[in-house]
Amino acid sequence: MIRLRSLSTLTAVLLAAGSNLEAQTTAYVGGSIWDGTGASIIRNATMVVEDGRITAVSPSAEIPAGTEIVFLEGKVLIPGLINTHGHVSGLWAAEDVVDEQDRIRGDLELFAKYGVTTVNSLGDGLAVIEARKSSSPLDPRARLLSAGAVIAGNTPEAARNQAIANADAGVDWLKLRVDDNLGSSRKMPWDAVQAVMNVGNERGLQVATHLFYLEDAKRLIDMGTGMIAHSVRDTDVDQEFIDSLLESGICYVPTLTREVSTYIYGTRPGFFDDEFFTEYANESEIERLSEPAYMERTLASASGAAYRVALVQAMENMVILQDAGAPVTFGTDAGPAGRFPGYFEHMELALMVGGGLTPTQALLAATSVAASCLGLDDIGTLEPGKWADFIVLDEDPTRDITYTQLIDQVYVAGQPIRTKTEG
Ligand SMILES: [Zn+2]
Repeated sequence: MIRLRSLSTLTAVLLAAGSNLEAQTTAYVGGSIWDGTGASIIRNATMVVEDGRITAVSPSAEIPAGTEIVFLEGKVLIPGLINTHGHVSGLWAAEDVVDEQDRIRGDLELFAKYGVTTVNSLGDGLAVIEARKSSSPLDPRARLLSAGAVIAGNTPEAARNQAIANADAGVDWLKLRVDDNLGSSRKMPWDAVQAVMNVGNERGLQVATHLFYLEDAKRLIDMGTGMIAHSVRDTDVDQEFIDSLLESGICYVPTLTREVSTYIYGTRPGFFDDEFFTEYANESEIERLSEPAYMERTLASASGAAYRVALVQAMENMVILQDAGAPVTFGTDAGPAGRFPGYFEHMELALMVGGGLTPTQALLAATSVAASCLGLDDIGTLEPGKWADFIVLDEDPTRDITYTQLIDQVYVAGQPIRTKTEG
């Protein structure tokens, strides 16, 4: 056992030291692989990775001569998690990191440490679009997609102009909000929503929509939204909604942890003592959230109490839709203050299962289903041709979803991002 461990650590050290990745072939040998396709686990598997991409996965894959071998006996490999609704703003980098692009890379490194190997940034500024455009598939951090800033125009002209500006800047998605924030603000007018949908059609861009109410969700599907980016939280989804969601084929993203973040800091949350959290958590943010005045305000917050109720509704709707065969996918809305990138993704998985999904359903939502929602065909599963984005776990998460937190290693394009420190 010691021998195997030291070998895999040595491999990590060699790669981290900058050995030539261009001609690198590595075989990951002896672990079990849950490949994200829905197939059962492959025991004693070999996965061969060449230049960042998977070339073979099977119990009997041939290992080319000269291949570096990483022994993973007793471990379980799963595809990296794909967050279809996250935020990347540079908020989480260390204080001494000044450059905006460096800060954004810091956020993406943090996501990746937790096995979140792709993030769709649904509503952040121009700098994130720049980071997206300058990124490479071999970057040792989470892959990035971006919608640019949320389109908030209150007239068709303003909305159209902002959507065009985002499209010109090179976004992957457009994003808008139809929400009155529990009755406290004015919703985006429907003619402005339509103007954004029109730009989406003209420019070949899908429009992800933030919403709260069932009736708005139905209307947005009718108007051609490409993603329901939050749960329906006012009432049970009905057959009409289920039918139109199924017919549209678009994804439904629960973002359960968004709700949690509105009330959980009313008292000191238990996860502040969880080593899996504290290992990479931003200490100044923990301090801010732990201030007595902040906690008192949160505890007394009417919106926090309302979103706590909304969370229960969101979980019920998630299960109704999953049972109806709709593509419930994985997204957290993590990244803004109070929503810790990486850790919240594991909390989301646990909530999805707590709400009634099986661990396998939650894992599929976060891997192959998420990839297809984002229109990405080279990630999401561990199959030949895909990028080698994967997590090495100590236990099988299809048996207990909290085992996703037992991270031994994370790889992006075959490069080690996180390795368990050996004592
Ligand atoms: Zn969001």
